[in-house]
Amino acid sequence: MDQDQLFERLWAGTAAMEEWTAAVSGGAAIPIADGVIAIHTGYLFGNTTAIRTASGLVLVDTGSRETANQMLAALRRWDDSPVHTVIYTHGHIDHSWGAKLFDHEASARGIARPHVIAHRNVLRRFDRYDATHGLNSLVMGRQFNQPGYTFPDQHRRPDAVYDDSLVLTIGGVRIELFHGRGETDDATFVWLPQQRVLASGDFVIWAFPNAGNPRKVQRFAPDWAAALRRMEALKPAALIPGHGPVVFGESRAAQVLGDGALVLESLSRQTLNLMNEGRSLDEILRAVSAPADLLARPYLLPKYDDPEFVVRALWHLHAGWFDGNPAHLKPAPQAELAAELAALAGGAGKLAARAAALADSGRTRLAAHLAELAGAAAPGDNAIQATQARVYEQCAKAETSLIGRAIFAVYQREAQARQRRSTRTT
Ligand SMILES: [Zn+2]
Repeated sequence: MDQDQLFERLWAGTAAMEEWTAAVSGGAAIPIADGVIAIHTGYLFGNTTAIRTASGLVLVDTGSRETANQMLAALRRWDDSPVHTVIYTHGHIDHSWGAKLFDHEASARGIARPHVIAHRNVLRRFDRYDATHGLNSLVMGRQFNQPGYTFPDQHRRPDAVYDDSLVLTIGGVRIELFHGRGETDDATFVWLPQQRVLASGDFVIWAFPNAGNPRKVQRFAPDWAAALRRMEALKPAALIPGHGPVVFGESRAAQVLGDGALVLESLSRQTLNLMNEGRSLDEILRAVSAPADLLARPYLLPKYDDPEFVVRALWHLHAGWFDGNPAHLKPAPQAELAAELAALAGGAGKLAARAAALADSGRTRLAAHLAELAGAAAPGDNAIQATQARVYEQCAKAETSLIGRAIFAVYQREAQARQRRSTRTT
């Protein structure tokens, strides 16, 4: 199918992003303006923007480990010039990993390797990645439900960094870099004023903003909204997002940027108002909701992150980790609480049975509490592990977000593994 027709169906919400991924898999170069292309390899892999200049190519982002070779091949079908400069929109590995391919290419050609430019915090990020390699492997494996996942190492560090904004003129092309915080604290959006093309990085990802991720470092929903407003004010004629298809046309680009800002502004305002009233996190989680009309937009569907996770991230941003429940300040060990409640209920099996009944009636949140308590009260009980696995499977099915589904699926699998172990030993 023609890319324009597919885009219209995505925009109307009648095509799924998986269809787009299938259409661009293997690497697709999309013409954006004179001397500018976007390269796609699939929704989960970061987009690359390539700019032709008299001094060589400039790249905005370099693709993911899984598909950077496809990105490189698509680029080289378009232009074989040396890569002069690489700009990272942030240090996440689905945007920065491919840079090493261009270093290898330059050394094979016997020329200077590309000059890599990024926000200053990318350096700190890569230092943190070195210090937390085991943790990141575990967190990413759980976020994407890929057991045995290994986080990359030897990140290609920038050669130059900037703080607030930076104007480059490379081979006659003006390229403006602006820093903002959003998914990360090291983000850059890139503006080509002559072509009126915006490369937003992950400020725009064709899904509800990934501003609440449960297992990652702090994210910045209010700053994210502010960055989207700054991008909106540029009035781009084409918007190249971090993930997903390019949005052409001033009014559509403005709509995507403005709606993204609106949903984050709404969640930030609601949460902060209630925090200022002294409400607990529990009360706030029940009271705050994202505007349903915005969440229904095909470019804001909560398929990756979850608005509820953003409320938690906002709480953490403004108020630290304590949730306002006194039992959570210095909690008893989970096993002690579980044993106490199991004794009151008449055994861990009672807790598990109730968990199963609640999950079957759709009350998966409550079911997860009781299933976890039952497992903690009787860790060697085969039947309870089986119930836990089934409850988490039902929890996963109830989630709209990839992250929520994946995390429950991981705990489902772990309960099944414990069940198999205890079956072998009994
Ligand atoms: Zn990304």
